Amino acid sequence: MSLSQQQDRQHCFHPFSNYHQLNRDGARVIVKGEGIYVYDEQGNKILDAMAGLWCVNLGYSAKPLIEAAQKQFNTLPYYNLFFQTTHSPAAKLAAKLAEITPAKLNHVFFTGSGSECNDTVLRTVRHYWACLGQPQKQIVISRDNAYHGSTMAGASLGGMKPMHAQGGLPIPGIVHIPQPYHFGEGQGVDVEMFGQQRAQLLEQKILELGVENVAAFIAEPIQGAGGVIIPPDSYWPEIQRICDHYGILLIVDEVICGFGRTGEWFASQTYAITPDLMCLAKGITSGYLPLGAVMVSDRIAQVLQEHDDEFTHGFTYSGHPVACAVALATIEEMEKNHLVEKVRNDIAPYLAQKWLALAEHPLVGEARIKGMMAAIELVENKATLKRYNKTKAAGTLCRNICVSNGLIMRAVGDTMIIAPPLIISKAEVDELIQLAWQCLDQTYAQLTSRTNI
Ligand SMILES: *Cc1c(COP(=O)(O)O)cnc(C)c1O
Repeated sequence: MSLSQQQDRQHCFHPFSNYHQLNRDGARVIVKGEGIYVYDEQGNKILDAMAGLWCVNLGYSAKPLIEAAQKQFNTLPYYNLFFQTTHSPAAKLAAKLAEITPAKLNHVFFTGSGSECNDTVLRTVRHYWACLGQPQKQIVISRDNAYHGSTMAGASLGGMKPMHAQGGLPIPGIVHIPQPYHFGEGQGVDVEMFGQQRAQLLEQKILELGVENVAAFIAEPIQGAGGVIIPPDSYWPEIQRICDHYGILLIVDEVICGFGRTGEWFASQTYAITPDLMCLAKGITSGYLPLGAVMVSDRIAQVLQEHDDEFTHGFTYSGHPVACAVALATIEEMEKNHLVEKVRNDIAPYLAQKWLALAEHPLVGEARIKGMMAAIELVENKATLKRYNKTKAAGTLCRNICVSNGLIMRAVGDTMIIAPPLIISKAEVDELIQLAWQCLDQTYAQLTSRTNI
């Protein structure tokens, strides 16, 4: 065991980890990143098909980001935005975000993370309705199996049952409706019909709660951590119609989908959504520094600006100058290289063609992809789409086989997912796909030999 592993085992508690297993096996130590690869302490080169945690969109070697950070460190390494103060990196980034996000989103509240964005939107929508003289209008409707972060509000807005089970969540005033997960919950129903039905559950919930009590609906355009759940095309138009009809606020959590992942700057453009609030983080700095941003629409901004009292909310690192400088450099780099267009017209279609062919593997019940996020469903029986018994932990097995073959794919139950850096080349896509086939073969061999015992 290396020194890092020893120190880690003795002192470091990890996010989303089983501490019993971690203590027994020790942690993998990553020492270096280069392009779309990371290297561990043993010198293994691993193709990072998850871009870290869906964030390292420009890969691990983006020099302009590093230089922007160095420059800002030398000028003003820290100042805050409290008490009527600002600085140029925050002001410039706010203006830039207003320019590239959909038309009505012209105001920004900076945070340090995606979770803090979701805490911020919860307080913002409740404050908004209170300012309008409707303080009882405070319930936020979300969805089962959504992921909105891990703070008290983030985890409550999220719909992950195992998270709710720890710490007495969700907090009051947050309710969940079923997700538009066709493979998992809509077998036998026409896909577009299913999308409509799932969207209409929002309407039912609003009527059940009383529209006078409902502040907002929140959703990821495509659920990420839930397993790259791509909604049917019928879903978002119906959600938009319902939000508009009842006048409730629409919060779109683009922490993963933003910054080119779906082939547009924002998935709100991909799905023609008009959000009132939009949460951004992760790809905003390509993961190089922690930063989040809540985009606020003119409708909300106007009400908050007319209200002559303090919004009692904010973080020490809201608009951190170095993080903002790196975000500006990230956006500049993407614009300079026409990265979003490249994703849309070139690399995402290329990845799609290769990824969808994985559906032919005997272990795969469905392959799906939108832009640069994709999933395959592992099944025991391809004809009936029956899943493996949970005790087989097929997804975990596949994930471990991937890592030992030099590929990072993530397992969500028996759904294998990827979200590679947007700068991935075609040759690297070929390598990713070849590794995926190889790992599926090995997983299949192990699962079927175990079945035969
Ligand atoms: C990761 C994620 C978050 C939480 O972001 P953190 O920076 O980890 O707090 C929120 N929403 C979505 C959709 C995410 O994927």
